[in-house]
Amino acid sequence: MSSFTSEIQRRRTFAIISHPDAGKTTLTEKLLWFGGAIQVAGEVRGRKAARHATSDWMELEKQRGISVTSSVMQFPYREHMINLLDTPGHDDFSEDTYRTLTAVDSAVMVIDSVNGVEAQTIKLLNVCRMRDTPILTFINKLDRESRAPIELLDEIESTLGMQCAPMTWPIGMGKSFRGVYHLYNDTISFFDPHAEKGTAEIIQGLDNPRLDELIGSQAEELRIDVELVRGASNAFDKQAYLDGKQTPVFFGSAINNFGVQSLLDAVVELSPAPLSRKTASREVPPTEDKFSGFVFKIQANMDPKHRDRIAFLRICSGRFERGMKIKQVASGKTLSVNNAITFMAQDRTTMDEAYSGDIIGIPNHGTVKLGDTFTEGENLKFIGIPSFAPEYFRRARIKNPMKMKQLQIGLKQLAEEGASQLFRPLLSNDLILGAIGLLQFDVVAHRLEHEYGVDVAFESYDCATARWLRGSDADLKAIADKYGFNVALDGNEEYVYLAPNRVNLQMAQERYPDIEFLETREIF
Ligand code: GDP
Repeated sequence: MSSFTSEIQRRRTFAIISHPDAGKTTLTEKLLWFGGAIQVAGEVRGRKAARHATSDWMELEKQRGISVTSSVMQFPYREHMINLLDTPGHDDFSEDTYRTLTAVDSAVMVIDSVNGVEAQTIKLLNVCRMRDTPILTFINKLDRESRAPIELLDEIESTLGMQCAPMTWPIGMGKSFRGVYHLYNDTISFFDPHAEKGTAEIIQGLDNPRLDELIGSQAEELRIDVELVRGASNAFDKQAYLDGKQTPVFFGSAINNFGVQSLLDAVVELSPAPLSRKTASREVPPTEDKFSGFVFKIQANMDPKHRDRIAFLRICSGRFERGMKIKQVASGKTLSVNNAITFMAQDRTTMDEAYSGDIIGIPNHGTVKLGDTFTEGENLKFIGIPSFAPEYFRRARIKNPMKMKQLQIGLKQLAEEGASQLFRPLLSNDLILGAIGLLQFDVVAHRLEHEYGVDVAFESYDCATARWLRGSDADLKAIADKYGFNVALDGNEEYVYLAPNRVNLQMAQERYPDIEFLETREIF
């Protein structure tokens, strides 16, 4: 294998998804610690505490400098290079989370063993399903009185529609949690919350007398459990996992470091190296030597006055080198990237090269847009970044009408960044904002004031949901003529139906059966 190919093969790019409080931050921290990327526990937590201390946007703003660099954490583990992409924990930024999931090759799903599958997990899982992203499952908090493991697996299978393949099996739970049995290498790891890495001892074989010595009567229970589990559950099938049909399941307690190393080992051993990505014209394999990538996230930089932004680009093929010239396909412009940011967790100094699977941050002044493709020249267009129908709508009302132009520019640019969505009804001059979370409106108002000098108020707007319309020109014209106040153009000049309520939506759908009403669409 050439060194170029092996650089790509050794990369693992993934994100952790979970419902708030399941233990994502704790697990992230422990993964970094096992990977040697942080020396002391607490570095990640400090950041989270700061982020959650207040929902006030000004405070969030102050934290941004930190969160830009910690949005992607790169660290070596064994012979691999890991890119762990952070997804914002706050519900209100879930759109950003969704888009981050398009930039990974696999995901780790954390389930709280007490609460089981929760609402946010289901939403995120559905996004992973759109691309059949392979998912490893970590059932956390076994040190608490949790639900029966078999019940948890059943719940995952029935609510998430994925087969579960237990890789480890817990011995007891809560106060009587003693460790896990590894179904595939026939070892038992004993849990000790006081041991440095959470594990007191590892022994080989279920028949090992040491097992009875250590856990007494629980040993016999374990032998019976394992026999049942082997009989009743799915065996691990690597292809089914890679196809997103089956999830290997690990049990542990992140806060006690227990089970974390097995999970990290699984990330490098089981999860895929960078995968091919689809463009509008062809599939691009990661090993193609020409550089290509797409922007999945834009983050405003520390100093809002300068309108500095970092565009996060996932490299899909080739090799990136400092100073390299790359083409922004949409504009045809060539960018010479001297100041790209890379994300080694250990030292934040910039790295000079990056490969498929890696993420680079490109500082810019608003010229780089969400969804942009960059290449070494070829006109490619990566597809598959989702945009979701907003759940909340507001009409922007400007306080000083002289600033209308700035408002329009500001809203357009913020929509391009993904801060909110913008809709302009065909028969009115309204500027309607759509968001997935209410906090997005505060962010937009704050940024309009500070970055564009526009004082804006948001009024309620009578819309329950939106659907992107796809159909023939004649059908689209017909629906636009019929419902001109409810049909709008979005930031990409695409037709959207803004439904005042579900009944109207249903009526419109019945009246125009040949038009597709899409709840999710790809940005490009
Ligand atoms: P996030 O919201 O998913 O990032 O969750 P956090 O990592 O912040 O964890 C939520 C809470 O669960 C915190 O109070 C953690 O200390 C706690 N927690 C995390 N892992 C464990 C665990 O293994 N056992 C127990 N008992 N608590 C845990």
